[in-house]
Amino acid sequence: MFSKIYFKALVLITLIVAVYTGVILFFVSPKIEERTIHLEEKTGKAHLQEISTVVESTARELKSYKENSIAVHKEELKNITDVAFTLVEKLYASAQPEAVKEHILSEVKTFRENLSSFYHQSQQEITSQDKQNFIREFVRLYRYDGGTGYFFINRNTKCVLHPIQPTLEGQDLVDLKDTDGKYFIREFVKLCKTRNEGFISYKWLNPTSRKIEDKLTYIFYFAPLDWIIGTGVYFDEITRQKQKEALEYVANLRYGEDEYFFISNYDSVLISHPSLQGRDMSEVRDPEGILIVPPMVQIARKQGQGFHSYSWNKLKGTDQLYKKLTFSKHIPDWEWIIGSGLYLDSVELEVETKKVELIRNLRKQLTTTKIADTGYIYIFDSKGNMILHPNSNIEGKNFLKLENPGKGSFIFDDLLDAYRSGENVLYYAWDRPSDKGNYIYDKVSWIDYNKDFDWYICSSAYIAEINSTANKLKQYLWIISFILLSLVFFISAYFLKKLLNPIETLSRKALQVKNGDLSVRSHIRADDEIGTLAQTFDGMLDTIEDNIKTLDKKVNERTEDLQEMIKKLDFLASYDPMTGIYNRRKFFELAEAKFSKSPAGLCAVMMDIDKFKKINDTYGHPSGDTVIKAVAGAISEHLEKGAIFGRLGGEEFAIICRYPVHKDIEKHLELIRKKVEQLVITAERGDLIRCTISIGVVKAGETVRNLDELLNRADELLYKAKGSGRNKTIFRI
Ligand code: GH3
Ligand code: MG
Ligand code: MG
Repeated sequence: MFSKIYFKALVLITLIVAVYTGVILFFVSPKIEERTIHLEEKTGKAHLQEISTVVESTARELKSYKENSIAVHKEELKNITDVAFTLVEKLYASAQPEAVKEHILSEVKTFRENLSSFYHQSQQEITSQDKQNFIREFVRLYRYDGGTGYFFINRNTKCVLHPIQPTLEGQDLVDLKDTDGKYFIREFVKLCKTRNEGFISYKWLNPTSRKIEDKLTYIFYFAPLDWIIGTGVYFDEITRQKQKEALEYVANLRYGEDEYFFISNYDSVLISHPSLQGRDMSEVRDPEGILIVPPMVQIARKQGQGFHSYSWNKLKGTDQLYKKLTFSKHIPDWEWIIGSGLYLDSVELEVETKKVELIRNLRKQLTTTKIADTGYIYIFDSKGNMILHPNSNIEGKNFLKLENPGKGSFIFDDLLDAYRSGENVLYYAWDRPSDKGNYIYDKVSWIDYNKDFDWYICSSAYIAEINSTANKLKQYLWIISFILLSLVFFISAYFLKKLLNPIETLSRKALQVKNGDLSVRSHIRADDEIGTLAQTFDGMLDTIEDNIKTLDKKVNERTEDLQEMIKKLDFLASYDPMTGIYNRRKFFELAEAKFSKSPAGLCAVMMDIDKFKKINDTYGHPSGDTVIKAVAGAISEHLEKGAIFGRLGGEEFAIICRYPVHKDIEKHLELIRKKVEQLVITAERGDLIRCTISIGVVKAGETVRNLDELLNRADELLYKAKGSGRNKTIFRI
């Protein structure tokens, strides 16, 4: 059914594919397996790295969140402190000469408006003296700046009214001078005369402080009553007032959760504090020995403002200490340090909240991270507490003393050792969820560490699972190889069959040709080389068949020619070409046969043309031939049945025959002689020739031994006839 070439080609192709598949399976497959395991490990490590990076960024975020949070609080603290500071600054500014002047002018304006209105209102109803008295009382009682500001009245240098020192009233103060020798009463008069109103400075005893202090007085002339009215302030008094105001204000200022401000002087004495008012803090330290107020004073005095950190208890609550961060600012004009502190536990709390949120995110990522099929990542701290685990039940548990069953050591120590050794990988045996307590399954843990959190990030995966992908891949490879091999085999078989079919046909046809059937044709039509071969094969057969047909024809023709020639040769071998009668050879052959069969009664006749030389000489050789033919013809016409007649040479003939008993031999031969005698032969050039023959006849008797002897006897008789005048027949019968 299958040709040899088909079988060989199929085996070859299958072998090649099998070898190719073999090479792939035995050389490439282990490489792929190795690479796949490597890749799986790499993926596992990459997952770990990913989580590590997330942890890192979480730590970083937390850190920056903390820093940011502190920075925000610091900024807040700064801003809030600035508010208090600005207020103090404002109070300070309001105690400065220009502000004081402005303030006095404003108070004077109000006073003057009141005075004028009071004066005009009371004009009609009362007498001039009464009016004066009323106005004096009005001025005596008039106060501003919370009771410290008042107005006095002079007429020229004489005191008309002084609300604070009534004893001066009625006295002429023309000679009153300050500690610098300035006659300021005289200056009042002079000022009113020249400018009507204005400021005058001098030094005077402050009744409140009982000290000589700089005083600033404003004077104006009240024409209706010819009064010089004035009011004055002590600068120091204003400063004291403003400071007092500032201290009171700051002491009562609160924000946030009972956060407060304080003011210290250069000696670290708290001049404003909600609970430690007046306390000398120059030696007070926190439990760690950090001075509390002096550094703030120092920083503020040196840099204008700054932060200082220490532990402190809260206003309300227990004596518990909290980390506190304080911002302090310098108020150089009053030699004060103002500040406010922030308890960092609130920041810690915020950071802790943030941490919880970040860890929640981390957990999400952790639970979705898979290494191979069931591998996972977990995180524990350096104290062996499980921080994060896909199984949340384990979280928070301490596994410091969890045994590594294979080795009898603690798994926690093994993990830490693996990390510290720098290899960051631990191989160990563990159980499976489906086979609890059977610690025979190989596992691998890759370990990473985060310094910020002090966390160890570990992966946990079954080695069999890591290898399973490679095994599956190997299996696929085997299956694919087998399928490929089968496919190649069947496809090759199909196409080879298709390809080799024409060749098989050709081979079969060639065999038929070999066995002699030239009529076969492949009839294969294809436009490929096999098609060309088949067409050439058919063409060659056409040519061969044609050639053979032509050859046959030629052979037949030749055979016919040959037969013709054989016929001719046969004729030539037995007959005399000139006369058409038996030649000498045939004559003797037949005569011998006849003689040997039965010699008795057989007659031998010898004949010869008379004087033939002469005919030749006279009429030419060709004419001599014509005569010979004519004589032979004449004799042939009268032969006995069964007679053997031949030309023995030249013009000599012989006859062997058996005459019937009744027939007259002599007559018959005489007839022949006469017939020849009567012949008139037309020769070459129209010559008419006549001739005669001599005949010797003998009949075989019992004594004759052979044909030659018989013929010799007849020949002897012929010569006798010649000798006796020719044209004669001599018999011996
Ligand atoms: P005879 O027999 O009467 O004694 O005289 P003859 O002249 O016939 O003598 P012979 O028989 O001896 O001569 C025969 C001659 O015939 C001799 C030869 O030249 C001639 N001859 C022989 N064969 C042929 C032939 O085939 N054709 C011709 N034209 N001449 C022949
Ligand atoms: Mg003769
Ligand atoms: Mg003769």
